[in-house]
Amino acid sequence: MKLALLSAQPYDQRFFDEALQRDCLAGEVALSYLTPTLNRDTVRLAQGYDAICVFVNDQLDAAVLEALAGFGVKAILLRCAGFNNIDLESAGRLGLFVARVPGYSPEAVAEHTLALVMTLNRHTHRAYNRVREGNFMLEGLLGFNLHGKTVGIIGTGQIGLATARIFKGFGCRMLGYDPFETAVFSGVGEYVTLGQLLAEADIVSLHCPLSDTTRHLIRAETLAQMKPGAMLVNTSRGALVDTLAVIEALKSRQLGSLAIDVYEQESQLFFHDRSSDRIDDEVFLRLTTFPNVLITGHQGFFTREALDQIAEVTLDNLRCFVQGERCANSLV
Ligand code: NAD
Repeated sequence: MKLALLSAQPYDQRFFDEALQRDCLAGEVALSYLTPTLNRDTVRLAQGYDAICVFVNDQLDAAVLEALAGFGVKAILLRCAGFNNIDLESAGRLGLFVARVPGYSPEAVAEHTLALVMTLNRHTHRAYNRVREGNFMLEGLLGFNLHGKTVGIIGTGQIGLATARIFKGFGCRMLGYDPFETAVFSGVGEYVTLGQLLAEADIVSLHCPLSDTTRHLIRAETLAQMKPGAMLVNTSRGALVDTLAVIEALKSRQLGSLAIDVYEQESQLFFHDRSSDRIDDEVFLRLTTFPNVLITGHQGFFTREALDQIAEVTLDNLRCFVQGERCANSLV
């Protein structure tokens, strides 16, 4: 079995090599690590492989899937929870096995969400630089207490719930919106309509998947419904947010601050070193000019525990495919 990892980073190699050594497939699977992102231009790299493993910014549209099937690729292993980047209908039609890694470590993303909120609110990133330059002035670093604030969680699945539990520990009042309500979230917070959540929350945190119904869930109309000066946090998928509308809301001060770990056009930027390059994305560059905007490059998942789990579950999904076993994580 020849398996190629696309969009491979050095840490992928470390965690997958280690997981394979522990796995019953050791000796049966030859792993190759390919750095390019998968898309129509790079799909030919998959020739000669039985299975491929992809990440969040690999593009698996109908044309790419048809090419993969033509090359004899039979299994597609997503080493992530979200699956908005694959055309599942085409994959099913082509008889491809597709599996993902759901809920590998909700706490990893939840804790990063809080790291963003705490940094943005208390300006620790700015304080760090000031202190290093011998500037001990506090002007510009004013924050607010999280205790007693209302936090709205949109999408109360595994990550939303883990995030809500941490906020609850800070003494926040929790609101949730999700078309599929759970008893476990009701034990932490109160379910309300999307409109009520937007109107009452001091912090709105997005944790729903990207789909046709959630694309640009946050746009001019919903931004106008938010409490003036509220904070918006997105650690889910970039396209949940209409970035141009968010920039307008920041300019008008309707939106108080923004923390994002994901960005709609992130595939051109994230997971690459562009520090010696020119960045052409004017929208992204505009975002970086706001002092009340904090951006990280899709690192919510990036903990040892999560990477361990991702590698282990991905290889177990492959084992199910090889052994013809029903796979709980399969998507088609
Ligand atoms: P999950 O399936 O456990 O939860 C998603 C929840 O969203 C579900 O309860 C679902 O009912 C709800 N939902 C669906 N449509 C909705 C809508 N229109 N409005 C509100 N809620 C809606 O998934 P999860 O493990 O909690 O992951 C959530 C998302 O986080 C993933 O889809 C992925 O996009 C993102 N994610 C980001 C990172 C990162 O590194 N930043 C890592 C992992 C996952």
